[in-house]
Amino acid sequence: MSEQCAIKKVTEITTEEVDRIKAWINTEEYKEKNLAREALVVNPAHACQPLGAQLVAHGFESTLPFVHGSQGCASYYRSSLNRHFREPAPAVSDAMTEDGAVFGGQNNLHEGLENAYALYKPKMIAVFTSFMPEVIGDDLTSYIQNSRNEEIIPQDYPVPYANTPSFNGSHVQGYDPMLKSIVECLGGGKRVEGKNNGRLNLIPGFDTCTGNYREYKRMMKAFDIPCTMLADISETFDSPLTGTYHPFPGGTPLDETADVLNSQATIALQSYSTKATMKWMAENTDAPVETLPMPIGVKKTDEMLLKISELFDKPVPEELIAERGRVVDAMTDAHQYLHNKKFAIYGDPDWLLGMVSFLLEMGAKPYHILCSRSNKKFAKVLQALLDTSPYGADCNIWINKDLWHLRSLCATDPVDAMIGNCHGKFITRDLGIPLIRAGYPIIDRVNLHRYPTVGYQGTMNLLTWTVNTLLDQVDATCEDRNFEIMR
Ligand code: SF4
Repeated sequence: MSEQCAIKKVTEITTEEVDRIKAWINTEEYKEKNLAREALVVNPAHACQPLGAQLVAHGFESTLPFVHGSQGCASYYRSSLNRHFREPAPAVSDAMTEDGAVFGGQNNLHEGLENAYALYKPKMIAVFTSFMPEVIGDDLTSYIQNSRNEEIIPQDYPVPYANTPSFNGSHVQGYDPMLKSIVECLGGGKRVEGKNNGRLNLIPGFDTCTGNYREYKRMMKAFDIPCTMLADISETFDSPLTGTYHPFPGGTPLDETADVLNSQATIALQSYSTKATMKWMAENTDAPVETLPMPIGVKKTDEMLLKISELFDKPVPEELIAERGRVVDAMTDAHQYLHNKKFAIYGDPDWLLGMVSFLLEMGAKPYHILCSRSNKKFAKVLQALLDTSPYGADCNIWINKDLWHLRSLCATDPVDAMIGNCHGKFITRDLGIPLIRAGYPIIDRVNLHRYPTVGYQGTMNLLTWTVNTLLDQVDATCEDRNFEIMR
């Protein structure tokens, strides 16, 4: 490079200075400063509300997710889901820009609805918002009613909608209002006195593991209980490659959704992502409406199966009882490798409760538990779970902290491994510990979303991944004299 072209650095940082800072960010002093940080979030362990709403919309038959807001935001939800599942995540946006921000987004919404309805011919369009219409206070209710009045869409065409302000909560809070709006839009007012269609409404909540949906269905089939899965993304994001592109594969049938208020029972398997939906269900049907913990680990899977057995007056099927026995056997074989091992774990509230329960069952310590969007109430629930086991005794709960905080925590108070989404890989690389990938998103490994993590089978998978990852680490780092063929 000629002298004229050489880049003159504004600040010269010496190698010694880089090394000094590298060492400093691993110290207690830096940790204290880092934990005191409030004005900035670095590497958060969550996405924004609209992404949760979009996941719901994908879970219904022939439904087009429609982002009322900025195109860039819509691209983020699409690409994030698309990278995790390695499948298309078709959704549209009405591409609000500066004029929309000044005059309101009604024109964008109307033009968008007209085009989306004419071009893609979906059976339902599910509208949710990005930050911009929420900041200016767009009135979705009247905008959508106006679009019917102006015959942009037919009067009876289903357009459920949800306000999903990205500056509050996370994808978990965005999931709930979209799901509530869809079941309300399709099933509201359709309760028939005395009718029982014999079905179970099963609501997994924000779950991006297609294997989990299939696992729930398999368990319900073993019970011989017909099940309406709300919202079912198993085919949408895991459909067979046939050579023909289908924009809307799978999804919960709309006619089944329309009958949810006449089901024998409703069960949600996450509480934080289904609150409003379950409240609406409870207010509109006399049938039992139960919220259970996410069935990760043996205890929580037992709870789910026993509740279903009770609600439908059917014994737990022999095949599931045998599975339970097998996973208990596998846990017994593997407990020596997990006993007293420390883990840092981060993710969504319901998932964390399930994972913590599983680790405690194994005699492992969920040592640093981080939830980047939650509250003191959740911390109390988590603490109560930790208090049930001696392995939870000295574990730490970190609410509303991010992964840069977690890095400091693990650097100063080390763990044996981390469990969480792929964003934690920067920490594990720096600190030389393994990462067991689970949660959302996982965009640097293939196929993990196809393997269940719920039920006895899912517990078996989690156990296998966790223990074998620790053993890989032993093999990779032990001295030659300890390098054994048998572990
Ligand atoms: S809604 Fe907000 S947080 Fe979400 S993608 Fe758009 S700008 Fe980002």
